[in-house]
Amino acid sequence: MQYQSLNHFLNSNIEYLKGVGPQKAEVIKSELGLFTFKDVLQYYPTRYVDKSKVSLIKEFSEESPNIQIRGILLDFQLQTSKNGKRLSAVIKDSSGIINLVWFKNYQYVIKNLKLQHVYTVYGKVTNFNGTLSISHPEIKLYTPEDDKLGLKMEPVYPLTEKLKSRYVDSKLIGNMVVQIVTNPQFVWPEFIPDTITYPIKLISAQQAIKWIHYPRTEHEASDAIRRIKFEEMFVLAMRSEKNKALRKQTQQGIKMPKVGDNFNQFYKEHLTFELTNAQKRVIKEIKEDLAHGSQMNRLLQGDVGSGKTIVALLCMLLAKDNGHQSCLMAPTEILAFQHYITISDLLKELPVNVRLLTGSTTAKERREILALLKEHQIDILIGTHALIEDDVAFHSMGLAIIDEQHRFGVAQRAKLWKKSINPHILVMTATPIPRTLAMTVHGELDVSIIDELPKDRKPIRTLHKDESLRYEVMSFVKTQIDKGRQIYIVYPLIEESSKLDLNDLMNGYDEVNSYFPVPKYQISLLHGKMKQDVKELEMNRFKNGITQIMVSTTVIEVGVNVPNASVMIIENANRFGLSQLHQLRGRVGRGSEQSYCILMTKDELNYPSKKRINTMCKTNDGFIISQVDLELRGPGDVLGTRQSGLPDFKLLDLGKDTEIIDLAKRAAAYLLKLDFDLKDQNHKPLLQYLIQHQSDHFWSQIS
Ligand code: ADP
Ligand code: MG
Repeated sequence: MQYQSLNHFLNSNIEYLKGVGPQKAEVIKSELGLFTFKDVLQYYPTRYVDKSKVSLIKEFSEESPNIQIRGILLDFQLQTSKNGKRLSAVIKDSSGIINLVWFKNYQYVIKNLKLQHVYTVYGKVTNFNGTLSISHPEIKLYTPEDDKLGLKMEPVYPLTEKLKSRYVDSKLIGNMVVQIVTNPQFVWPEFIPDTITYPIKLISAQQAIKWIHYPRTEHEASDAIRRIKFEEMFVLAMRSEKNKALRKQTQQGIKMPKVGDNFNQFYKEHLTFELTNAQKRVIKEIKEDLAHGSQMNRLLQGDVGSGKTIVALLCMLLAKDNGHQSCLMAPTEILAFQHYITISDLLKELPVNVRLLTGSTTAKERREILALLKEHQIDILIGTHALIEDDVAFHSMGLAIIDEQHRFGVAQRAKLWKKSINPHILVMTATPIPRTLAMTVHGELDVSIIDELPKDRKPIRTLHKDESLRYEVMSFVKTQIDKGRQIYIVYPLIEESSKLDLNDLMNGYDEVNSYFPVPKYQISLLHGKMKQDVKELEMNRFKNGITQIMVSTTVIEVGVNVPNASVMIIENANRFGLSQLHQLRGRVGRGSEQSYCILMTKDELNYPSKKRINTMCKTNDGFIISQVDLELRGPGDVLGTRQSGLPDFKLLDLGKDTEIIDLAKRAAAYLLKLDFDLKDQNHKPLLQYLIQHQSDHFWSQIS
């Protein structure tokens, strides 16, 4: 069966359909972009009006007031009251009677009413002291023909006001669909092979396209939806799975088979804690990647505080043991600096040279670093975006790690990889994107997950407090400080340039000063407007316990690690997004003490704010949080930008369809294993489909 040749009929212009005509066709094309029969069939309804069943009048219930009944027209009359005219009618079935009323547009209705005839009536019932009535029902004279056609669920399509004003309604679209699918020429070709559809009980493409518009039951509707969602993901997965496999086959990575002295010595002598099982598993996964010839391209997801840094460090030691340099890029100077301090401190007794390169590195030091880097006198280079500048050249970079990778754009990441030939790549993130999203967006990456926190951690307790309870909150803070703990107080600063927010922060700082007077208490202040060296100084004062309170903006959000800090107060918490709240909260709970996160709000909260705050109070699980975030904001916003290449799905919901996404990915991988180039006769329709639906010749180049 040739996939393409069948499409001739489906490519016909919608003007050929009865009831459409040039004017309606025009507005359907301009408003909905539906030009051909095929377009119409792929314009899916958003819901159905259930007319699959005729109920008895007495079966009406308040919970589902929409009802379809069938009965005899006993009476009808046009009544005049002070509110104007209205048409009322009475219908009787074997179980009771119901009143119908029309306040307008009744002239057309009245013309067609015949006493003692049977009508099918659909509408929303209201119950007024036991008297049931429907205003403006749909009403249709019953004919025996109706039984032959069968009852159905009626599709409801998303339509604009403009369309409605030109008499393009769901009925018309539905009618167009019926004309197309009942035409003897109609064939909707299958392109997913039976080897896939059969075991997972997917209905055929043709069945799905019929049922998505006209299911007879809810069951048929859900079968059709499942099939189409699967299709949407499967097409995408075929590509990402193929790419992944191709990369593994062809892209020779730098072989790093050795586990040498530095790694072993560090592991045995300098690691002050036992790795969690999850950390061990991830290191093993990475080791295997490095040891084999193919280039690693791996996403490491781990909740805040799960210990990703140490994993990164161990990997960089592996690179060192195999004679290669590595780099670690972080999104902020504070974080890069912190990594530098932590890592160089951990490695101080090993012959491993670690350097830091950021935007504030002096020109002289920078020159020195660049020279040493070229001569392979530096093993590990830590830094910010400064690392990707053109003149930063390595002798041999074997491993590139990006921390908090979602903070970087695609282009920035790519620039780092280009510093070497096929370096191994590890991108780390603490913003657990929901698995579904990771699978679609990062389809070509392997994913490792640290799903376990170090044992000594106590779950952070999160509380929501209104401004009116500030005194109570500050008293609590005092008891914590008196126990030797440290406190963060964070203000929203959406735009680093926003004056208003900065005022908020400064007022907050003054207020905190009045609660906690010097010299007994010392307070740090940190915001993006400050000079780098001042920032570092403040950060270090806090880190070293000289100050007990850190008042700051979200500059401290990412990755900052001060294990003695046990309280995180977030001011105007309703103004933060969920992942940001979670990141901020992750700044505490890093030691063995009980930690707290207090979400302060002053304003009346709207629904999303409430939901965000409640979610934070309920769970510490980053994956659950990201799922809620996805539901609240949708995938485009969760990822931040459209550049992530998120496809537009018609039906697939990345927030909810985890199971289908998983299934489609596995199916694609399975099929490619059977027939990598889709050469089998049974797989030809799929190949043709993929070629036809691509914009960049990916499949035609490959096949
Ligand atoms: P994140 O994954 O958020 O980047 P970090 O790497 O900053 O987390 O680790 C958080 C803290 O946990 C650090 O102080 C680190 O030394 C510590 N840590 C990491 N792994 C373990 C472990 N297995 N046991 C105890 N503490 C650990
Ligand atoms: Mg980190």
